[in-house]
This record gives sequence, structure tokens and C-alpha cells, in this order.
Amino acid sequence: MDDCLFCKIVKGEIPTQPIYQTETIYAFKDINPQAPSHILIIPKKHIDRIENFPETDKALAGEIILAAKAIAKQENLKEGYRLVFNNGKDGGQEVEHVHLHLLGGRSMQWPPG
Ligand code: 5GP
Ligand code: ZN
Repeated sequence: MDDCLFCKIVKGEIPTQPIYQTETIYAFKDINPQAPSHILIIPKKHIDRIENFPETDKALAGEIILAAKAIAKQENLKEGYRLVFNNGKDGGQEVEHVHLHLLGGRSMQWPPG
């Protein structure tokens, strides 16, 4: 997707602080961190929302969570962390390319705002 911000990030057209990557996944620091560790984990291929995540991409769906596990270890988040998919309008999704927020390094509240 030519006009997608996160596709531009994957292509290196917009610089980011990379944290982790595999053949299929890219993870980078959020530009506006909401916690001491705030990392966005994205599939390199463009998928706009969870409801459009292809049924044929089950491995990729799993890799996103396993990337979070690896990054949490790398970031030494021994006390825990929060994983969030903002999805669609009511979910507060601003960038229409599926991304998993990994937030850690402080105690989180519930319910979220
Ligand atoms: P959403 O609200 O869609 O779940 O989250 C989008 C996230 O992308 C926000 O937390 C926002 O700070 C982050 N973001 C938006 N533009 C950029 C950017 O150009 N670079 C980086 N690193 N993060 C961005
Ligand atoms: Zn995209």
C-alpha cells in the first residue's frame, strides 16, 4: 500500500528505531511512547484491520505474539507488560495497518480509557 505509513516504515522510507525483525515481522519504537517501553509490532505485509487478517495467515498471526514474547525478554520486562490491538474506530485505531502495541516498564491501570 503506497500511502500507508507503516508500509513506508517497513520499506525504510520513514526512519524508525528498530527493535526486532524477522522475514515477516518488524518492530520499532512508538514515536509517542505511553510507557518506558512502547514498541509497535507489525506484519511486514499490509493488512489494514484484524477483521481482514487472512484465515490463511495463521502462522503470521502467531508470529506477532511470539515477537512480543521475544521483545519483552530483550527489553527485560520481567514484571509484565501489556499487549494491545487498537482496532477500528471504536478501538481507537489511527494507523490502518495492523499493529500490536507492547507497553511495559510501568504499572498499567484497568479499565483502559
Ligand atoms: P493506533 O492508535 O493506530 O493504535 O496507534 C498508532 C501508533 O503509531 C501511535 O501510538 C503513534 O504514536 C504511532 N506512530 C504514528 N506515526 C508514527 C511514526 O511515524 N513513527 C513511529 N515510530 N510511530 C508512529
Ligand atoms: Zn501498510
